Amino acid sequence: MDLKDLKNRAEKEISLAQNLEALNEISKKYLGKKGEITLVLRSLKDLPITERKKQGQLANQIKKQLEQAINNKDFKTKEDVKDRIDITAPGTRPLQGHLHPITLVKKEVEDIFAKLGFETIEGPEVEDEWHNFDALNIPKEHPARDMWDTFWLKEKGLLLRTHTSPVQVRYMEKNNPPLRIIVPGRCFRYEATDASHEINFYHIEGLMIDKEISASNFKAIMEKFFQEFFKKQIKLRIRPSYFPFTEPSFELDLECLVCGGKGCSVCSKRGRIEMAGAGMVHPNVLKAVNLNPNNWQGFAFGMGLDRLTMMKYKIDDIRLLYSSDLRFLRQF
Ligand SMILES: [Zn+2]
Repeated sequence: MDLKDLKNRAEKEISLAQNLEALNEISKKYLGKKGEITLVLRSLKDLPITERKKQGQLANQIKKQLEQAINNKDFKTKEDVKDRIDITAPGTRPLQGHLHPITLVKKEVEDIFAKLGFETIEGPEVEDEWHNFDALNIPKEHPARDMWDTFWLKEKGLLLRTHTSPVQVRYMEKNNPPLRIIVPGRCFRYEATDASHEINFYHIEGLMIDKEISASNFKAIMEKFFQEFFKKQIKLRIRPSYFPFTEPSFELDLECLVCGGKGCSVCSKRGRIEMAGAGMVHPNVLKAVNLNPNNWQGFAFGMGLDRLTMMKYKIDDIRLLYSSDLRFLRQF
């Protein structure tokens, strides 16, 4: 028997084997109980001693080589290679989310007011007529209701809140003064959109009730807030205004930080922007939640988180904030 020929045949068959089944056949054919190598090894005993030694070594060597070749046989195809994971290759970095500019500003506003002793409170976006209007001194048929273009729901008496003020009422119904709260949240108005108006927007409401509170407390708190928020001294202008739930009422203007006072689309070319509506809480509002206006006074204010965001980041169109445009959002 020519062992080298046997080895060559076996190696060729192993290299051509297409699957595990074929490989098992080859293994059986050469290395099995009646395999060719096995028979060679068995027949050695009939050979003379020197020949036996030589052939025996060779046959055992070939046996080992064939076993190794069978063990190392790899059926991989091009497909397999493609699917294989190269654990040494550099990974794909997962996209990391981040906060929306309005959320960033909301958190910052909450932090600043927390330092001034104000607690952050939330309330429902779907409100009833009582909390959104009546309890705030805006009864039915009151002409002031026209100031809020309201989305009414089909369910009787329910609406999308037009301001965060109803949360003041809800809070005062359950908590006794003295109290200091802010209420950030989404509000809705049925109106045409432009560079500074959206049908939904974020408001932040503030309320401070205590004994002997006056408009000067309001001014001091707001000056402190804007100074912290814009990291510089900000000139406030307070001018008289009208809201049904405050008396007296005032409007708080800031120099437009988008254009620096020169006039732009955000400030309607005025150079100033109305930042907050405010005033001393109307006695009727206190009475609606069973507080005695002779014992308690306070101020309330509401300002647009959107406007604060626009001023902070110098954004000249409110619609960008709600556009979901990633090119815009990735900048924050
Ligand atoms: Zn401007």
